[in-house]
Amino acid sequence: MKLRNNFKPLIVFLIIVSLTLSAYQTRYFIFVPISGYSNENSNELFISTPLCAVIPDSNILTTETFQQTHPVLGAIGEGDITLVYDSSFPVDRRGYAQELFDLVYPEIKSIYGDPSNIITVTLSYDPDSYPWNFYYGATNTIIMSQLPLSIGTSPSWDAVFTHELIHAFHDALYLTPGEGSWAEEGMTEAATQIVAMNLQGRRDIVLRDPVVNLKYYDVWSFMGKDVLGGGPDFTYKLVPDLHYRISSAMFFILTTELSSNPSNPYDFLSQLNNQIYSQASSNPIFSDDRFKLMIRQSAAGRLVEGQLADVWIGNQPVTSGFVESGFQIGVYPYRPENPTQIRVLTFLRLSDAREIPLSEEVNIRIIDSEENTIRTGAFVTGSDGTGYLELDSTPLPLGGYQIIATTNFNGIEYEARNYAFSQGESILIEQADNSLYGVTLMNPVDRYPAAYPCLVEQSI
Ligand SMILES: [Zn+2]
Repeated sequence: MKLRNNFKPLIVFLIIVSLTLSAYQTRYFIFVPISGYSNENSNELFISTPLCAVIPDSNILTTETFQQTHPVLGAIGEGDITLVYDSSFPVDRRGYAQELFDLVYPEIKSIYGDPSNIITVTLSYDPDSYPWNFYYGATNTIIMSQLPLSIGTSPSWDAVFTHELIHAFHDALYLTPGEGSWAEEGMTEAATQIVAMNLQGRRDIVLRDPVVNLKYYDVWSFMGKDVLGGGPDFTYKLVPDLHYRISSAMFFILTTELSSNPSNPYDFLSQLNNQIYSQASSNPIFSDDRFKLMIRQSAAGRLVEGQLADVWIGNQPVTSGFVESGFQIGVYPYRPENPTQIRVLTFLRLSDAREIPLSEEVNIRIIDSEENTIRTGAFVTGSDGTGYLELDSTPLPLGGYQIIATTNFNGIEYEARNYAFSQGESILIEQADNSLYGVTLMNPVDRYPAAYPCLVEQSI
């Protein structure tokens, strides 16, 4: 969470450890310190598969055809989904899929609203499309590239199926065509994670842990729009999984900030869908600006981090539709609450927005609040355009830090910066608690990180 400091021309970082905040009401997740570095949290390894791409019904792009293929409903949004099976989906797995559908479908409706259309969705299986999974709007087909295990449950399969089924809710819509997948994928993945949370104890549905995603949200976003923005869909991105996580965390923050029903505390996504449905009958295509207008109207003046909701969305780097081509470098701390690695992305964005990984030699410097360089290192990013510097297992001393990554591409020196906190002891954030671990004050002008100790009072 970034707070703007309008009074000092500096960027200020502060660390507060073990501060008990009895009046602190958590709006997102709250975090708990774990003693000692535990084994790697598998959710934090950022497994890059499986992935999803939604292929909307191209008929939607021509209103006349759209009206022929989608007979006029009372209003878009009073839909229903029935699941059937393609011959490619094994008969002995259909009971598993049907049981999961029967469990998650009402749960999705409770937080996402009704489907936009009355449709029969066909579930099919195509291992050749691995690691991608699809929802094809034109044929109302979910294509899964893996099958659930024959014994027990398959938590990540369940998450991907739920995700694809949620895409089917927007069957009669097309969000931000050509301007990025952040809207459709972000809403869908956030809803998937909320369904998984609501079903905890009844069904283990796990792919991308929202606690982990929210922990990283600010350091990822700090890489900025040149690293995170651009591309018509996530298949163009260097690390698609990163974009599912960032865009879902963004909608998670939005729904947590703006929901208004205490008995259904993530209901903003259904409010947003209902607003979209109410405007969709005349035109089912929602450009970037029109989609943000739907957010503004459904937020009805409520603010997100001090900004109008649609303005806040527009300020998130992942929503930047069109960004420059050329070489890019991004850097962020792995475990932002206590860095154990410094991770780097190096890639070339082509003129058509595709991101091509580049293997580059990268130098890292970590600078403390007294501007001392306390760590340096070098490594070469891999053929996938990612790499990392392993830090000592002993945590950095308590404080805020600046991270600088530099590389030379075609004779030009490129630099990326980010920030990090250290608790000075082995603390990991893996689940909810009511402690405040760090505050980041951003200067909106230069956005260059630096670390300064200062006193911060907080109130809600
Ligand atoms: Zn998707």
